[in-house]
Amino acid sequence: MDAAVLFVWGMTALLSMSLATPIGKRNDTSVRPSIVEINLQAGLLGNPNCGEMPACDKVCRFGYEKSQDGCPICSCIPDDKNILIEGDMMSTPAVRARLFGPGSRGSTAFGNLWPGGVVPYVIDSSLASEGLATQAITAGMNEWTSQTCVSFVPKTVQTNYVKFYKGEGCWSYIGVVGGEQLVSLDTGCWYTGTVAHEIGHALGYFHEHSRPDRDDYVTIQWDNVLSGTEFRRQFDKYDESYIDSLGTTYDYGSVMHYPRDAFSSNGQPTIVPSQNGVTLGNTEGISEMDARQMNLLYGCSPPGESTTPAATTSASSCMDKNERRCDRWKSFCPFSGKMQKHCRQTCGLC
Ligand SMILES: [Zn+2]
Repeated sequence: MDAAVLFVWGMTALLSMSLATPIGKRNDTSVRPSIVEINLQAGLLGNPNCGEMPACDKVCRFGYEKSQDGCPICSCIPDDKNILIEGDMMSTPAVRARLFGPGSRGSTAFGNLWPGGVVPYVIDSSLASEGLATQAITAGMNEWTSQTCVSFVPKTVQTNYVKFYKGEGCWSYIGVVGGEQLVSLDTGCWYTGTVAHEIGHALGYFHEHSRPDRDDYVTIQWDNVLSGTEFRRQFDKYDESYIDSLGTTYDYGSVMHYPRDAFSSNGQPTIVPSQNGVTLGNTEGISEMDARQMNLLYGCSPPGESTTPAATTSASSCMDKNERRCDRWKSFCPFSGKMQKHCRQTCGLC
């Protein structure tokens, strides 16, 4: 996994100051580091002291390589490297090809969903003896299983599975990647909301603040964002062809929403909600809307209302909503939540 951990450099004086707060009591949300803070501290996202990079001849599709001090240089990141995008989403070349490639198409999940909403998992030895970590993993999984139809099972013979391990920073792949896929949970990530966030990516979620309609609900305060292209790109917005929120309304309290001060250079807000009195993000766990959208994504009802995760639906309900269209767009099954919802027979989900 050496390709996944990129550009490690020393912590800057600025970050040393802003991150000097001890983790402290685990129930005190005021001292919890955010995912962004942890990943900045781990040196995964860039050096805030680099400033604007010099003009380069070429535009790099997936960003620029970095020198030893963590500052970008005019050399493109190779296409075959796994890189973090949006702070904590690890992307493979195949995932980026889907996301940024011509004619790409995505939904909340642009990668494959877990068949039947069942996620096999293992906890790596680097975390297995860490009580706080295993508690947070259990609690993070429970956030989703108690309110949605997705479930987690200890891996046995499954080929595709999630492995929680103690890597650098908090990050996850998006949806099913194929084979073993890591979820990195560094020491600062051992909180229910943080683990639920990374599991949300593994289940197929992007960030809430990347939604196509986000500018109707929040304003990005660019003057307060750390200088440098790489930090500004953390606030990329994707259009409807990449993110489909399945008809749900914008959710300020989503566990997938970054906090107000994410990537702030001066402690001032970088994301300002249009609505007064709302909290951005959720450090406690998933929101009602997070659960609702996950149930839509996996085509099932919440626990208690029905036991119909996609793979266990009865044959009588295994019908495409529009046979002709489903057949026509069959190739989009792995990438499109709409296809997986409306064309379940064609997509082989029931
Ligand atoms: Zn994230």
